[in-house]
Amino acid sequence: MHGIDLHTHSNISDGTLSPSCLVDAAIACGIHTLALTDHDTMDGLETAIQQAQGHDIQIISGAEISSQWSRPNTKKAYGVHIVALNMQNPEPLLDALVIQKNIRAERAQQICQILQQCTGQDIYTDVLLKVEGEPDRITRTHIAKALVEKEIVARPQQAFDRFLKEGKRAYVKFDGLNLADTIRIIHESEGFAILAHPTRYDLSSTNVRYLIELFAKMGGDAVELPPSVDPVSTRQMIDRIIQQFDLKVSIGSDFHGENMPWIKLGHTPQPNPHQTGIWESFR
Ligand code: AMP
Ligand code: MN
Ligand code: MN
Ligand code: MN
Repeated sequence: MHGIDLHTHSNISDGTLSPSCLVDAAIACGIHTLALTDHDTMDGLETAIQQAQGHDIQIISGAEISSQWSRPNTKKAYGVHIVALNMQNPEPLLDALVIQKNIRAERAQQICQILQQCTGQDIYTDVLLKVEGEPDRITRTHIAKALVEKEIVARPQQAFDRFLKEGKRAYVKFDGLNLADTIRIIHESEGFAILAHPTRYDLSSTNVRYLIELFAKMGGDAVELPPSVDPVSTRQMIDRIIQQFDLKVSIGSDFHGENMPWIKLGHTPQPNPHQTGIWESFR
């Protein structure tokens, strides 16, 4: 607990707290620097800033961008999440997010069509109800919840394991920004590009190292430290790569409210004394 949480979701995407409730919860648990990083949207930012007024908390603009990367001379594209933070000139990113949102809306329909073929049930209407009828806010978390409500699966995790994860029948790749363009657009927006949860992509350690190296060479700014529930050896591996490529670190809980009740707001890993926090660069 350091009073800093730079990776959180509201119900604008797949968190359960509204942006104002998220800010209230952050104030209540002693957070002084909070970034709202919903998936491919900054639509909660204004409400969060308003709610923070008169309180001892700084709201950092943010978004978690669905991006992709590949190894040279290979066709396979791996999904990766890039957290954009502290944009001083958000227009270029907002323009890119318009396209990302269209892709998200289209993909949700495709996923639901495949699920209809797999299960015989149409869940798209139920999914839309979860995002106030705004299809560009639909994430796989919403789809997983609808599958639970229809009793097609018992738990959201089962929805991912049976249908929604990469390699499963209803997996549809998010075919949006690539890594180089993501970093470039964040920098044009005068923000910082953070590689989110490097140990959560089901990559071999060779590929994790390759991804971080690629991210650094493309001008990426910081890497998120693994959560403290991860093995010490995982953290040590990430620490070594961060040091080798001279990157800064970011700390975020990836809070999703009741959608992931085991993740607590503000519970972020402790940086090592020689690591530089990206928040030290915030204006
Ligand atoms: P999307 O942006 O639509 O691909 O949805 C991504 C979100 O789904 C992530 O931010 C997580 O909240 C959730 N998610 C992804 N993979 C899993 C998984 N294997 N189990 C549970 N939740 C997951
Ligand atoms: Mn999420
Ligand atoms: Mn993510
Ligand atoms: Mn996230």
